[in-house]
Amino acid sequence: MATESYEEAIAGLSKLLSAKSELAPVAAARVGQITGDLQPGDGFDPIERIKTGFIHFKREKYEKNPALYGELAKGQSPKFMVFACSDSRVCPSHVLDFQPGEAFMVRNIANMVPAYDKLRYCGVGAAIEYAVLHLKVETIVVIGHSCCGGIKGLMSFPDHGPTDTDFIADWVRICLPAKSKVLAECGDKPFPEQCTSCEKEAVNVSLVNLLTYPFVKDGLVKKTLSLKGGYYDFVSGSFELWGLQFGFSPSLSV
Ligand SMILES: [Zn+2]
Repeated sequence: MATESYEEAIAGLSKLLSAKSELAPVAAARVGQITGDLQPGDGFDPIERIKTGFIHFKREKYEKNPALYGELAKGQSPKFMVFACSDSRVCPSHVLDFQPGEAFMVRNIANMVPAYDKLRYCGVGAAIEYAVLHLKVETIVVIGHSCCGGIKGLMSFPDHGPTDTDFIADWVRICLPAKSKVLAECGDKPFPEQCTSCEKEAVNVSLVNLLTYPFVKDGLVKKTLSLKGGYYDFVSGSFELWGLQFGFSPSLSV
């Protein structure tokens, strides 16, 4: 797929779906969706949703705050770098009311930070390098959350070897040390409780992994940077925050 052009991909999909005659209408709809010519059958129009959303943002926020957006047009100097899950329910801009320009964000499956590795996960490394060395963020926050599908996956997949996923198992194994700790300490608890513990422990593993980045360690030594762990529970509507200072100590619970 990566070597195919857009046109080749569309032609290939069309051919594949048209191979079975009963799939011809499906093929037409799928190609239509991809090329943006047709609307999906459920009546939801993604283009209209995006248009409406942007018009609302522009009228209610952009045009009402020319000072902020004027400053942001010149550059950004966010105080925070935030790691959050890709889960659609946990957007930090909503949950923590971050305004544009306040937080440089990475969102991925289960809000994980891999250890420093120039050969793998370069996208994460590049974001940390840019945030710390160029934007000079002052705080990195890793935020876990309740009912995390990625953590449930980590707790369910075998620790090693192949699975039926192409990427997910390999990615969430970044936090295998959290799984091991949870199984050792509360392996007798029901599975959902184990997952909740792992959602928090995985944040701690990510905080420790952040220490493997030389520029993060430098920032901590020079006290220009601090690391925080967070946990958003959207079932109870609570947020916990803890620091990384010679171990983990709870510092806030709302
Ligand atoms: Zn998640």
